[in-house]
Amino acid sequence: MTEILSVASECAPLVKTGGLADVAGALPGALRPLGLRMRTLLPGYPQVMAGIGKARAVWRSDALFGGPACVLAARTDALDLLVLDAPHLFDRPGQIYLGPDGRDWPDNPERFAALCLAAAEIAARGADGWRPDILHCHDWQAGLAPVYLRDRFPDAPAGIVQTIHNVAFQGLVPVDRLDALGLPRSGMTPEGFEYWGQIGALKAGLVWADRITTVSPTYAAELLTPEFGMGLDGVLRARQDRLSGILNGVDLADWAPPFRLASGKARHKARIRAEMDLPEATGPLCVVVSRMTEQKGLDLLLEALPALLENGGQLALLGSGAADLELAFERAAGDPNVAVRLGYDEALSRMLVAGGDAILVPSRFEPCGLTQLYGLLHGTIPVVTLTGGLADTVIPATPAGLRAGVATGLQVFPITSDALGRALARLCALHAQPEVWRRMQRNAMRQPVGWDRSAEEYAALYRELSEA
Ligand code: ADP
Repeated sequence: MTEILSVASECAPLVKTGGLADVAGALPGALRPLGLRMRTLLPGYPQVMAGIGKARAVWRSDALFGGPACVLAARTDALDLLVLDAPHLFDRPGQIYLGPDGRDWPDNPERFAALCLAAAEIAARGADGWRPDILHCHDWQAGLAPVYLRDRFPDAPAGIVQTIHNVAFQGLVPVDRLDALGLPRSGMTPEGFEYWGQIGALKAGLVWADRITTVSPTYAAELLTPEFGMGLDGVLRARQDRLSGILNGVDLADWAPPFRLASGKARHKARIRAEMDLPEATGPLCVVVSRMTEQKGLDLLLEALPALLENGGQLALLGSGAADLELAFERAAGDPNVAVRLGYDEALSRMLVAGGDAILVPSRFEPCGLTQLYGLLHGTIPVVTLTGGLADTVIPATPAGLRAGVATGLQVFPITSDALGRALARLCALHAQPEVWRRMQRNAMRQPVGWDRSAEEYAALYRELSEA
């Protein structure tokens, strides 16, 4: 059996700020039927410690970046966990990456370097009588693990995979922390982990890993361009033969469609209107569930909103993030057909996805995107920009797509507020044709959005590496 150690800074359902958590939480279960065992190493944040129940120590350090630490082995229903219990690094209230002032915790480099060191030691020497064949690192928070493994344990046989969930987050660390982090000075070169005079944690993972994956084929291609590579396109072009894109899936055990289309949609829609104080309307109820950042293109939606409202549509948005965007949407909610809920709310997000007619994802770039997949599953028509995983998962309602009866959503290109406005007007026109609309909904719900195919692709990658 191929054994994998997955290293992630978040993992649903224990701790989540975005799609990384969904993937880290779902992948082990998707791999199990294929005969692969994945154990997940996570930081011991308070919510993780509270969620794991009975646990036993399988690895210890007397001094891990300023305090004692141990790794606890524990199980939840779906996960086989290794939890880095280091109270001086992780036992703090609030958001996992940000302090109460809304800025990164100043010791984030040490916090995640600690996770990486523990990962490297376990990958090399084993713990709990178990040693993985593969070390799978997610995002910059796990990016130093490949360096520690190869630098400190050059004979360790484990193969290394580094996954990019979003290249916008690179984990840059001032160079004066080099020795404190225990990194090899020889790595501080442009061919190593140096990034314009700083230490680049994600770059380290990309250079030291045996294979690099990202979360959709289109994003894998986009990452090679200066426009999307965010300074790492050159590194990735140099390692292009090691890079592949594997789409994220939806955890169907967690997201099974809770209704039959005709009756269920209406019931959930009524709940949304009651919960968010929206009037009845004949046009489509569009929903958004999103972090509110530049990436997600919600400023474009603000500009395009009149095209939706003038055509009888409505908007219900759940999100949180940038203060200026939050304020602008609160203002937009002055219109009776716009409802905005600021914050993070798992239950409301599910209600919106289930009851909306359409789900809007107008991202400027989107490595994979999960909410359009949740939309497909529930017959909630996705309106997406033509980028990254959005381009890979939605079949557009072009005249040909409609004629062939395969369309599942609308694609917006170029990524501008004008094009988005035109797409929203078109959405309203399609919604007014019940036959066409129902056909799109049925197509959407038939789309395979589970993990099956992607789990096979990861399994093939792991097997190839462990047999190399
Ligand atoms: P990203 O990881 O860039 O935020 P994804 O679409 O890959 O984008 O994943 C976002 C995940 O977070 C989805 O599961 C989505 O439902 C969830 N999510 C985002 N914002 C909220 C919110 N305000 N409340 C509840 N869930 C949210």
